Amino acid sequence: MSTAAKVIRPEIQAMHAYQVSDATGLVKLDVMESPYRLPEALAAEIGQVVSNVALNRYPVPTAHELRAVIRDVMQVPPGCDVLLGNGSDECIQYITAAVAREGAVVMAPAPSFAMFSMHALFFRLRFVGVPLRDDFSLDTEAFLAAMAKERPALVWIAYPNNPTGNAFPAADIERIIRAAPGLVVIDEAYQPFAGATFMPRLAEFENMVVMRTVSKIGMAGLRLGYVCGRPEWIGSFNKTRSPFNISVLTEAVAIKLLQNKPVLDAQAAKVLEERERVRAELARVPGLMVYPSAANFLLTRVAGGKGAGTRVFESLKALGVLVKDFSGGYPQMENCLRLTIGTPEENRILVVALREALK
Ligand code: PMP
Repeated sequence: MSTAAKVIRPEIQAMHAYQVSDATGLVKLDVMESPYRLPEALAAEIGQVVSNVALNRYPVPTAHELRAVIRDVMQVPPGCDVLLGNGSDECIQYITAAVAREGAVVMAPAPSFAMFSMHALFFRLRFVGVPLRDDFSLDTEAFLAAMAKERPALVWIAYPNNPTGNAFPAADIERIIRAAPGLVVIDEAYQPFAGATFMPRLAEFENMVVMRTVSKIGMAGLRLGYVCGRPEWIGSFNKTRSPFNISVLTEAVAIKLLQNKPVLDAQAAKVLEERERVRAELARVPGLMVYPSAANFLLTRVAGGKGAGTRVFESLKALGVLVKDFSGGYPQMENCLRLTIGTPEENRILVVALREALK
């Protein structure tokens, strides 16, 4: 037996690393990026900003300038603090680390974002996924019952949810927050496409924080996520943070881009418009069911037996379009393909390819 086989935890040996497909040469509609690059003038200004960054220095560990801009631009309520992560992925790690008492339980609807359960595993916490109904709506009573039984220290609610695309009713989420014995994190990664938010309600709930990311509004490459909440939460998460987790480049560029947020908002508005147009179009494609979406992607289900979705996924790839295939994971997601909304031209290519693949 190799030393690694003796030393690495068996559950880590058994798992697969997070998979991201190679998209070279393909229309990339797999991971909910914005399809738009920056206008040339703004890109040039960013170049200027980057050239002035002191790369020889460590970042200011508090990143207070960027946090101040986020407070202002994202309307973080007064009295709340902000934690920054290298993507909200890293915020999930910090929050999980902070609550990881012996025997603590982490809970979320299932299916939801994979990193919620992965970080629970990394910190040796038991993860309980509460199944959504077959139409991916939230079974609030089942969730409340599971909370009463398991007493989770940490509950994740993605609002809207990934990979299903729907936003659970705010009144149901409110019932969960009120009944939760521990912390509830509202993950608003897709908020720019949903409108609805719990951010202004932070003062109302002592046991809730709101997590966001700039990844879906044109800055996925920067890697920046943030958590807003009462100082007693944020201060504790902050203790688990790597001191220099936000690079000088991320901080400088994010400040400049957030100061130009109307440009990003206009791009998100185009995506939103396209989402509804593409949804209406796909609803007319035989052999495909499209779910309602409050995000920048559409979840679809291919008609047919086991393997039908994966066959369409492979045909799409052969036709030059990369989407995300969910077959082989959650049984409820068999034959489900998740389609990120792209530019009008990319979406046109997608619809033509889907019609061809479904023939
Ligand atoms: N939360 C949800 C619900 C997501 O879907 C994603 C990305 N797919 C993230 C968090 C992580 O985003 P990032 O690390 O890019 O901020």
